Amino acid sequence: MAAKRDYYEVLGVGKNATPEELKKAYRKLALQYHPDRNPGDKEAEEKFKEAAEAYDVLSNPEKKARYDQYGHAGVDGAYGQGGMDMNDIFSQFGSIFGDLFGGGFRTGFTGFGGGGGATRRVLRGTNLRIKVKLGLEEIDSGCEKKIKVSKYVPCKTCNGTGSRDGKTEVCPHCHGTGVVTETKRTMLGMMQTQSACPHCGGEGRVVKDKCHDCHGDGIVKSDEIITIKIPAGVQDGMQLAMQGQGNAAPRGGIAGDLIVLVEEQEHEVFERQDANLYYNAFITFSEAAQGASVEIPTLGGKVKIKIEPGTPSGRVVRLRGKGLPVFNGYGRGDLLVCLNVWVPKSLTKEEKKMLDELQKHDNFKPNPTKQERGFFDKMKEMFN
Ligand SMILES: [Zn+2]
Ligand SMILES: [Zn+2]
Repeated sequence: MAAKRDYYEVLGVGKNATPEELKKAYRKLALQYHPDRNPGDKEAEEKFKEAAEAYDVLSNPEKKARYDQYGHAGVDGAYGQGGMDMNDIFSQFGSIFGDLFGGGFRTGFTGFGGGGGATRRVLRGTNLRIKVKLGLEEIDSGCEKKIKVSKYVPCKTCNGTGSRDGKTEVCPHCHGTGVVTETKRTMLGMMQTQSACPHCGGEGRVVKDKCHDCHGDGIVKSDEIITIKIPAGVQDGMQLAMQGQGNAAPRGGIAGDLIVLVEEQEHEVFERQDANLYYNAFITFSEAAQGASVEIPTLGGKVKIKIEPGTPSGRVVRLRGKGLPVFNGYGRGDLLVCLNVWVPKSLTKEEKKMLDELQKHDNFKPNPTKQERGFFDKMKEMFN
């Protein structure tokens, strides 16, 4: 999938665009790329969805703030791979086009959201966001976390209907259509405007005898223990969306999503970059000069590595496949071990004497090869 475009770029507005400017920019794009005007045109549909998503985020102060701070990562969880759901886009139209097109709009654009005519609103539960702290060991293997969350669940007393007797009736105000139409005289002649019915909130049905436990909402707050499956290889800042695991919607609508934000805890000995791990090992001068076998920790337990005689400080040894699993991919990263020769920070008189003695020997006088003298080659060795 291509990289997502910047939302401001999509709408062609500046960061300080006013809500009116956003609306105007979105209207223009939505009309241009509307599926009814571009039948069968996949590219237009993508553009249409892209604009809807951009508007959905930038018109919402909370989402906009998250986007401004974190970019797509801050809001991604809310939209799947395929972008916004078409029904969501059309339900958003009421507030955008209502005043512009009036009643003509919905009949003029059919094919989605109930095939023309008035579309009754299906309520959607809000998304629930939680943070999960994970250690590298958990990320290495993937894990299951049980977490207590406070969320809206369907009311047991009324089975989520909001009604004491389980019955709802057609809204007398809008006769079940979920919308009210107003006809106004304007400079251009008679104009019809449509908006969600204030009596039933656009649902088209109302509860007559409200449930006492949920006051007719059909949902109640509850502390729930939920089990979250964390796939191996996740990274700090990733958001995992669990569909339908968020807050329940009032009166039997569609539940929101549970968005899990991954927070990686710092590891005691390893540093991480994508699937690779880095480890600083310290060896003695004697081990570096004479060669040795030393123990190195890995996430899967200790392993022995061989140190060649004459190993310079800073040499990097790559242990293939000892890194982390690649997220959503195949294989594992590597563990890169940097061998540092330990230099004493203080010396006794006796030690000084021994070192002075060693210095006199030819093998101890620096005599680097051309490769060792090169500064950047050394840096490259670290990253290759
Ligand atoms: Zn209830
Ligand atoms: Zn109504």
